[in-house]
Amino acid sequence: MSNGSALTVYRSILESIKSDGLYKDERIISSPQSGMVKVSFPEGSAAKEIINLCANNYLGLSSHPDVIKAAHQGLDSRGFGMSSVRFICGTQDIHRTLEKKMAEFLGMEDSILFSSCFDANGALFETLLQAEDAIFSDKLVHASIIDGIRLSKAQRHIYEHANMNDLEEKLREHAVKARIRLIMTDGVFSMDGDMAPLDKIVELAEKYDCLVAVDDSHATGFIGRTGRGVHEHYNVMKKVDIITTTCGKALGGATGGVIASKREIVELLKQRARPYLFSNALMPAVVNATIKVLEILSASTERRDTLERHTNFWRNSLKEAGFDLKAGNTPIVPVMLYDAKLAQEVSRDLYAEGIFAVGFFYPVVPKGEARIRTQLSAALEQSDLERARDAFVKVGRKHKVIK
Ligand SMILES: *Cc1c(COP(=O)(O)O)cnc(C)c1O
Repeated sequence: MSNGSALTVYRSILESIKSDGLYKDERIISSPQSGMVKVSFPEGSAAKEIINLCANNYLGLSSHPDVIKAAHQGLDSRGFGMSSVRFICGTQDIHRTLEKKMAEFLGMEDSILFSSCFDANGALFETLLQAEDAIFSDKLVHASIIDGIRLSKAQRHIYEHANMNDLEEKLREHAVKARIRLIMTDGVFSMDGDMAPLDKIVELAEKYDCLVAVDDSHATGFIGRTGRGVHEHYNVMKKVDIITTTCGKALGGATGGVIASKREIVELLKQRARPYLFSNALMPAVVNATIKVLEILSASTERRDTLERHTNFWRNSLKEAGFDLKAGNTPIVPVMLYDAKLAQEVSRDLYAEGIFAVGFFYPVVPKGEARIRTQLSAALEQSDLERARDAFVKVGRKHKVIK
């Protein structure tokens, strides 16, 4: 390495991350993703089976036999890779099938696939908005939305988290000056597990003539009566213009992002979106398996219903035990500890008790807001949750987090 000072700089940054208690150690899993996983931690130590409370495997489909079978069928019938972007020679029949099925599931006219939702959000704003346009976004939107907005030349107005008075104030002041106005929010906020007030947002959008875009990555498949998402939950399915979401969470959890919208918007994205034009097509096995997931979810709400029961039990159990939870009604249940080191220690002690629950701290949440983010899954059994509750109580008492 020719620039000797570079490594010195990086070493000192790493040192300060460690001394601040903000260093993230990865747990090594040697089993499929599921309600129970085999983990070795620290790396190299003997692996053990533990209860998983931190995957985005909400519906327990990551290792579902029918999903795996569909992936095999995709591999056998359409090959391993496409070696092309979509518009050159990377579009198979199943890519179009998935786009149509995804649109239908979300209640939209059409959809476009990306390698990830991070890419979908990277594509959205730059393609649809120019300098004469304006974005009104919630302060706590996902990092990929923040980056996507940075790539566009549109004016940006940030409203306080879920604060409709603040949103309206910003709309009143800035909306008339813009050609196209777009309100952007997460459907479910990943760190706090609360839902955006989408019923109120669409009202304001009508009043100020705005497009509404929702990133439903933590909702697609399980929020709403039939799992369509936050727009179904609030009964505003026809009033949301754009949905971005991921195939990498509830929908089997492999990989892939989606933008679903009006026909013209999808068409324009296919012509202009840089992460679509300059990045490879999704692998056929993933596409075929995700089609299967949508079929499973369209046939029955059993999995989302199980998840809802688990969520209610878990929230009530922790609340009764005296833990400080972020309010909400989604399967993301953050247990607030505030201190990063404490969050690390609690996570380590839970691991010793056979529970996989990771501490979250700066920079993924604000400083002083460290937490253990627990997430429910339909892959868990009621008995797993009871064991997990007992472990939380034991460890919580040890650290004097509860009485
Ligand atoms: C996870 C997530 C993403 C990123 O999705 P990937 O498909 O993993 O890139 C984007 N937005 C939100 C709100 C997310 O939670």
